[in-house]
Amino acid sequence: MSDLPPRVLVINSGSSSLKYQLIEPEDGISIASGLVERIGEPVSHTEHIYGDKDVAMDQPILDHTAALREVLRLFNQVGPDLETANIIAVGHRVVQGGRYFDGPALIDDQTRNLIDQLSPLAPLHNPAHLKGIDVARQMLPDVPHVAVFDTAFFQTLPDASATYALDKETADRYSIRRYGAHGTSHQYVSNRVHDLLGRKRIRQIVLHLGNGASASAVVNGRAIDTSMGLTPLEGLVMGTRTGDIDPAAIFHLMRVGGMKLDEIDTLFNKRSGLKGLTGDNDMRSVRARANAGDKEARLALDIMIHRLVKYVGGYAAAMGGLDVLTFTAGIGENDAVLRQELCDRLKIFGIKLDPVGNVLRSKDPRTISSDDSAVRVMVVPTNEELAIARQTFSLLE
Ligand code: AMP
Repeated sequence: MSDLPPRVLVINSGSSSLKYQLIEPEDGISIASGLVERIGEPVSHTEHIYGDKDVAMDQPILDHTAALREVLRLFNQVGPDLETANIIAVGHRVVQGGRYFDGPALIDDQTRNLIDQLSPLAPLHNPAHLKGIDVARQMLPDVPHVAVFDTAFFQTLPDASATYALDKETADRYSIRRYGAHGTSHQYVSNRVHDLLGRKRIRQIVLHLGNGASASAVVNGRAIDTSMGLTPLEGLVMGTRTGDIDPAAIFHLMRVGGMKLDEIDTLFNKRSGLKGLTGDNDMRSVRARANAGDKEARLALDIMIHRLVKYVGGYAAAMGGLDVLTFTAGIGENDAVLRQELCDRLKIFGIKLDPVGNVLRSKDPRTISSDDSAVRVMVVPTNEELAIARQTFSLLE
């Protein structure tokens, strides 16, 4: 038995990257973290942070096996020593859990096969996760491995919000329905709100506004709607994704523009959103340009806010009222002007921000509405890695 508290190694494996963090789930402390980027390219980038040590390197890393081998070498060389670090499990982020998973799952051959079967629904993500899962299970065979799904929190969506008005047989045959995404973040943030307010009965909207962006409606801890759908393309205006768009635009681009499906996929996912509207996907640049009088940047922000207003209004109506509106992720946590501009448009709900509280910078969860606001408005920093570590830990307890 180790004297150290239990620790979970969280792995987020992408198609060309592997991010990791060693976390103590009980007290939420991050012990070490790092990433390997540009796996398979001529020069990959590696960074490992432990205490005040920060080791970065550029070197070729052929594949995920080589990447994880390098990560284990860095733990060995820079610390902490994994042999004695009291790692009780490895938690893997998995984007698509389909209808199979409504919570974390121990990774055995059956779970692995289901993640594989779901790959057509998340072709960019699930195969990449499996690479990380396979090498991690080989290299760390003595601890349980757990999959934590981005879609799990939204498995509770009522059929009325999860079902598209599509020919039923076709939808069933191809598993087309709304699975949502960012669920680990929405669950973590909405649970934090319950803990912080010490109340069980809350109708809340969580706005996860980062490079990817999504909204969720959560009633008493249970998600009843979310803006992402079959894939993370649906919903809000994002860094590079369209969010909601008439699907007939695809037919039009194919028929009139002669575009191929893959080109349209790339256009909608990588060359749209803020990037498509302004050439810039970083909110800080778009905001700076709008402040300097750039009309394109201002219009992009207006489109983003208009869409947010529609989602907040729609969700508030669907829930029969709104108690808490919560902002999280890069833009939600940091862009006080966006929060102010959005809340100014939500006066119909009696929302009033505290102008001083809204601009205070802090890494802590906080209330930013005024005392006489009819809806409490909060900023609650998200922490997906910690949420994955906690879900992994909870499955093993
Ligand atoms: P995430 O995907 O959660 O890391 O969020 C990334 C987004 O947050 C990018 O669009 C950043 O420009 C944005 N962001 C980060 N810091 C700020 C800030 N201080 N003001 C506005 N946007 C920010």
